Amino acid sequence: MTLSAPAGRQVLRSLAPWLPHGSTLPAPQWAVRHRAVTWLLIVHAAAFLVAGLATHLPLTTVVSDASVPALGAYAASRGSLSRAVRSGIAAVSLMLTSAVVVHLMDGSIEGHFHFFVMIPVVALYEDWAPFLLAVGVVLVHHGVIGTLAPNSVYDHRGAIDHPWRWAFVHAGFFASACVGAVINWKLHEEARSAEQSLTARVRHQAHHDPLTGLPNRTQLLDHAADLLADPVRNKQPVAVLLVDLDRFKDVNDVLGHASGDVLLSRVGPLMAGAIRGGDILCRLGGDEFAAVLAGADEETAINVAKRLHELISVTMDIDGVLLNVEASVGIAVLPSLADGDIDTLLRHADIAMYTAKRARCGFAVYQADQDTSTRERLNLLGEMRQALLNDEFVLHYQPKVGLPDNRLLGVEALARWQHPTRGLLGPNEFIPAAESTGLIVPFTLHVLRIALQQVSQWQDGEPLSVAVNLSPRCLAEVDLPQKILAMLKTYGVAPSLLELEITENTLAHDPDRALATLTALHNAGISISIDDFGTGYSSMSYLKRLPVSELKVDRSFVSGMLSNLDDGILVRSVVDLGHNLGLTVVAEGVEDQETLEALAAVGCDVAQGYHLGRPMPTEAFNVWRADRSAEAAVA
Ligand code: C2E
Ligand code: CA
Ligand code: CA
Repeated sequence: MTLSAPAGRQVLRSLAPWLPHGSTLPAPQWAVRHRAVTWLLIVHAAAFLVAGLATHLPLTTVVSDASVPALGAYAASRGSLSRAVRSGIAAVSLMLTSAVVVHLMDGSIEGHFHFFVMIPVVALYEDWAPFLLAVGVVLVHHGVIGTLAPNSVYDHRGAIDHPWRWAFVHAGFFASACVGAVINWKLHEEARSAEQSLTARVRHQAHHDPLTGLPNRTQLLDHAADLLADPVRNKQPVAVLLVDLDRFKDVNDVLGHASGDVLLSRVGPLMAGAIRGGDILCRLGGDEFAAVLAGADEETAINVAKRLHELISVTMDIDGVLLNVEASVGIAVLPSLADGDIDTLLRHADIAMYTAKRARCGFAVYQADQDTSTRERLNLLGEMRQALLNDEFVLHYQPKVGLPDNRLLGVEALARWQHPTRGLLGPNEFIPAAESTGLIVPFTLHVLRIALQQVSQWQDGEPLSVAVNLSPRCLAEVDLPQKILAMLKTYGVAPSLLELEITENTLAHDPDRALATLTALHNAGISISIDDFGTGYSSMSYLKRLPVSELKVDRSFVSGMLSNLDDGILVRSVVDLGHNLGLTVVAEGVEDQETLEALAAVGCDVAQGYHLGRPMPTEAFNVWRADRSAEAAVA
């Protein structure tokens, strides 16, 4: 019964998983094995020469026998031939060499052992073509030569009379030897593939971030090294974008690290999708991602930054909580990688990213002057931390006076830094740096402590309230109300004597969180005041939602209200607006008597400014206050 073609294919297909694949030997290993096989042929050629001459065979026989392995070795060593052809030549030559051995031994059965020794050698190629060629040579040799010159192949009668039958008998034993060799080959292949996939996995782990699956810093550096090594691309411009999520720490703190991880694992692949093939986006760690854009000039880099920023500025549902994801992107561009290095690019992108974060503008391009300002800022921040410990901050108090009777209602506490070498520094020299980091929070608590301690000392006479400026970042602190209440208790100050001044911009960012903090403070009896009113971007709808009790008209409008018609109108309308909302209206920056009178005339409730009193250290303020009371008593 013969096997039909489809059935044969079926058998092969079911055998396939048990058979080696073939052609998987790495080139260096192939080269070593092939060289060994070639040497084996050369050794045979030499042995045939020596044995033939020693046994006095005719010279032509000696030469023709030796030429089989010799020519095989020569052809197999030709570098111009392909690996497959060279393997095939070597395999066929080995088998023909075995045939020569059998002939030299007059078909002695021991001579046939040579085939059994050579077939595992052919299997060293771990390739089907040479292997099947070798098997074919054995079959044809036994069948054809066995028929033409049976005495040279076999040494017994049965085989000499029936060469083809004995060719198959020999083939059976030979096939068993082949099976052993193939099993060995298959096991090698499996071990090699296991090793390769393990190596690939280890390499992947070493170059990727497990959370997002994105490349990691190591791969980014490798990528940059590749760019630098590329003679074409290392002359093109290159850009690095550094993306940092805004307020990611809050997500971790409030929702937990698991939610933070979910956020990162969504944001990462989202951004990676927007990066062109050939470029790379990696996670540097934490909530920081970096992209290297080869061939990108500043304009392209800005466009990609915009696209990334848009992509991730979305509302995401993280474990049932809706999060407004926002990020800041820093951009650094070099005319070519040869003009700098990847570390400089990353550092510049980092500086630009902080600029973008501070300005809340989404993205920023690195400018050289940011570098020095950053170094100064870092220096300043370090000094500020030390200054907090050394108690170098002092408060100056500026009076807030009721209209129209000029009664002293309270003070605004304004921070100064008694710097050990630079003298007394105003807040504009250090508050912005502190606001760009978390340092503003401990700083504010420090200011609150000094202010409340001072107010508790002023309570022997007429009670005075104190206003403290609160930076936007402080409102993101969920435990701020508790901390402030604990402080009020410590110093025995009534909550009604504390005012917190916030700016309109406080609310532009994360209004819900800020609103929750403000509401808690308001419910505890602390008043909230909107500072610099008119310069920010709060809307009427915000104002209505906020638990505020005071509006402070910015001094830029107050100082111009008599000379500039628009400013005059604005001040009047803010007074009306405040009153309609049930708020007290304060005018800041009152520098002369005329302005004071004009303010009283439009119904403004409170005035503050140099004309009434400058910000003063405690002792000066106490003297100023005592003088005033004395004057009032005389009047
Ligand atoms: P601000 O809250 O608007 O404070 C009022 C600023 O105007 C003070 O400047 C004050 O000295 C000044 N000023 C008061 N009256 C007049 C006037 O009649 N004419 C003029 N030209 N200026 C007047 P200062 O003390 O330099 O404070 C600047 C800013 O620094 C403050 O603006 C406030 O935003 C911030 N700041 C001060 N202390 C702190 C603090 O403890 N924490 C926070 N977060 N910010 C503070
Ligand atoms: Ca203020
Ligand atoms: Ca102000």
